[in-house]
Amino acid sequence: MHFGVLGSGIIGLTSALELQQQFPTARVSIIADRFNEDTVSYVAAGIFRPGTSFMGPTQEITHQWMRDAFNYWDELRRSTESALAGVCQLSGYIFSRTTPSVVRNHFIEQLLPVYRRATEQELRLCQGGWKYGSFFTTCLTESRLFLPYATKKFLANGGQVLRQHVSNFFDVPQDLDVLLNCTGMGAKELCNDQHLVPIRGQVLKVRAPWIKTAFYGDLDTYVLPGFETVTLGGCRQYDSYNTEWCKYDSMAIKERCYDLLPSLKKAEIVRECVGLRPHRSVVRVEPELLTNDQGRRLKIVHNYGHGGYGVTTAPGTAKYAVQVVRDMLAGNSKL
Ligand SMILES: Cc1cc2nc3c(=O)[nH]c(=O)nc-3n(C[C@H](O)[C@H](O)[C@H](O)COP(=O)(O)OP(=O)(O)OC[C@H]3O[C@@H](n4cnc5c(N)ncnc54)[C@H](O)[C@@H]3O)c2cc1C
Repeated sequence: MHFGVLGSGIIGLTSALELQQQFPTARVSIIADRFNEDTVSYVAAGIFRPGTSFMGPTQEITHQWMRDAFNYWDELRRSTESALAGVCQLSGYIFSRTTPSVVRNHFIEQLLPVYRRATEQELRLCQGGWKYGSFFTTCLTESRLFLPYATKKFLANGGQVLRQHVSNFFDVPQDLDVLLNCTGMGAKELCNDQHLVPIRGQVLKVRAPWIKTAFYGDLDTYVLPGFETVTLGGCRQYDSYNTEWCKYDSMAIKERCYDLLPSLKKAEIVRECVGLRPHRSVVRVEPELLTNDQGRRLKIVHNYGHGGYGVTTAPGTAKYAVQVVRDMLAGNSKL
């Protein structure tokens, strides 16, 4: 059996590892044109915190993705591999001046070990005159560490990595039994998918080792401490394809984060990054059977469109995608 995984971001790598785990004797090849710091995954702060509108094919499946993903990250956090894999525990607050629903999250209120309403004293922990707030404890996965960790594990399990741009699914090696399509925004062209839209984000990574708690405020403001740097954000620009750094976004992010925590003014800026979140109102994890003009057939399982929550949900959708592969091979898929 030979599986291909198109894409080497967080979705491709977690899918490739899941394939190796569930099909230990199979060959697995990753094919991608970008790796590590050249992927959107690298830009993410990596907090486990799905948006409330995140959606898979059904509510039940979406909740299962969340549970499977959180269990995966939390198990890794508890293991000896935690530091190597870039997974840690993180606690923090989400505050709002205006909207009580913003501080609630039906996906994680039952799932996380701690998710509760912030007290009156806690609402005054940082500047802003906050009216509503929640406190939670979750996981954070730093892609800067996780992507190379996962690649190393994949290679040690006998996996193969090919650097190649694919303009048509039939460009992949001919002997593949199933191809997993984990191309993020790349799927827009490959699948001619009009439902896939970029939501542009920009963040600053600063050195501020004194910040130990995560904070979210209104207007997409967040301060998320990671292993070496703290991520300051952010913005969400719908349908923007601009991958260039923008000085106006940078100024706005700094001003909002400095208002929240003035000590950040003294933090050294390590880098600023931009990424296009691959947003799809329903994340696409489903099989497809393609036939080209020469009659060649290719079994594909799509796994893309995770928007701003790909790090959060990657291991959950990977597990589900590999189950779809299994069903496809057993002839149980409705195609
Ligand atoms: C500013 C910002 C902050 C974020 N913060 C968080 C967060 O805190 N928590 C969270 O859960 N998520 C966060 N995200 C979202 C997260 O980064 C994405 O959901 C996730 O990275 C998507 O992963 P992916 O593997 O689908 O895509 P990518 O990382 O873009 O990987 C796509 C892969 O496909 C390959 N590929 C594409 N097209 C082709 C082709 N034609 N031929 C060959 N290879 C191809 C690319 O080379 C690449 O390897 C954030 C995103 C941004 C921009």
